[in-house]
Amino acid sequence: MTAPTPSRAETVALARRHLWPPYTSPERHEQHDPLVIVSAEGPWLVDADGRRYLDGISSWWTSTLGHRHPRLLAALADQAARLDHVAAGGATHPTVAALAAELCAVAPAGLERVHFSDDGSTAVEVALKIAFQYWQQQGRPARRRFLALASAYHGDTLGAVSLAGAEAGGFFTVFAPLLFEVVRAPAAGEDDAGWDRVATAIEERLARDGDTIAGVVVEPLVQGAGGMRTYPAEVLRRIRAATRAADTFLIADEVFTGYGRTGAMWACELAGVAPDLLCTAKGFTAGLLPMAATLATARIYDGFRAGPDGAPRALMHGHTFCGHPLGAAVAREVLAIYRDERIVDGVAARAAQLAGALYHAAAVPGVRRVRQLGLIGAVDLGDGGYGGAAGPRFTDAARRRGLFLRPLGDTAYVCPPLNIPPADLATLLDGFVDAIEEAAAPAR
Ligand SMILES: *Cc1c(COP(=O)(O)O)cnc(C)c1O
Repeated sequence: MTAPTPSRAETVALARRHLWPPYTSPERHEQHDPLVIVSAEGPWLVDADGRRYLDGISSWWTSTLGHRHPRLLAALADQAARLDHVAAGGATHPTVAALAAELCAVAPAGLERVHFSDDGSTAVEVALKIAFQYWQQQGRPARRRFLALASAYHGDTLGAVSLAGAEAGGFFTVFAPLLFEVVRAPAAGEDDAGWDRVATAIEERLARDGDTIAGVVVEPLVQGAGGMRTYPAEVLRRIRAATRAADTFLIADEVFTGYGRTGAMWACELAGVAPDLLCTAKGFTAGLLPMAATLATARIYDGFRAGPDGAPRALMHGHTFCGHPLGAAVAREVLAIYRDERIVDGVAARAAQLAGALYHAAAVPGVRRVRQLGLIGAVDLGDGGYGGAAGPRFTDAARRRGLFLRPLGDTAYVCPPLNIPPADLATLLDGFVDAIEEAAAPAR
């Protein structure tokens, strides 16, 4: 027997009284009327009043296969019936071993080792610690800084926040005294020429100071939370070449871009680039459970073998739930579904549908900087940035049309499940363009 679903009002009252939601002021939290979602299926979310909403942002970019894919639910139940959890130190289990092998098989060339953790921020923290520790024990202790892009976003733990660019996190400034110093690439501005200057600046910086840099961290080809900023593949290729020339690491944060979002399994592939470390989360379990992974090359792993003094050099990082069986079972099944349902191949046709909608959005007065990569489409309303009024207007307009969309400030975007049925995608995109028209109209 399942308990009756509480009413919308009951849930809102309890939430207002006891929840502390992310990135939401108490005033807004206690006054705003949130969506109360009680169930989901495929691209649809259903609220407490039975209203259906298309999940236009894949529930914070995770639900690449839609909600409650039957095969994922079956894999989860099957694993739960056999093994719930076992410590990852001194023990392992078949599901996580198989997952590591399968993940390496689909990863960019050269990534052969996997460290599992819980979320995207942690996957990035692990990459930073691996790179840092590697150089410390390879007799290159001066390599202790990281180079990151402007507008970067890599998560919310302190190491990841250190990497964030100022624009991505005006809201991070309060933590500045706690952060480590990062070598910052210049801001690109709004056009590809700006990105050309970014690549040149990184090349020059690495040529000059490469021996102080433990790694260069990038979101490949599109910076997500920093405002859905796309940039040319050539820039990523130049960064890869410059890191190789300086013999330092390229760390690819594919937490958002991985798992087909950009039209290839990994955004790095679109540039023909293989990083030294790769972080994945979000699509990694398709939103069903929190789990993440950091992949590394054999060279990096071998750097943790005993040195000349014979002393062991373990990676000094680990979490209680490393390689959790339930998450691992789901992550394996995600990869199997990607193979069997040819999920990445299906992105191209849907991306063409999205391009059509963006073409209409571009003609709306007040819309600027239309951009797309795979199943990510974004436009700026008003002046862009986080403070504008158009973003909230857009959210409300979308909600009235049965769409769950949440802009980044005044950047309106869609990134739907990759397997969204084309008819539902058409509904989503029609509503997206209508909501843009409504929100972009100058306020009276
Ligand atoms: C979301 C995101 C993260 C952080 O992942 P969490 O699971 O929220 O910790 C890191 N990097 C990128 C590029 C992201 O989009």
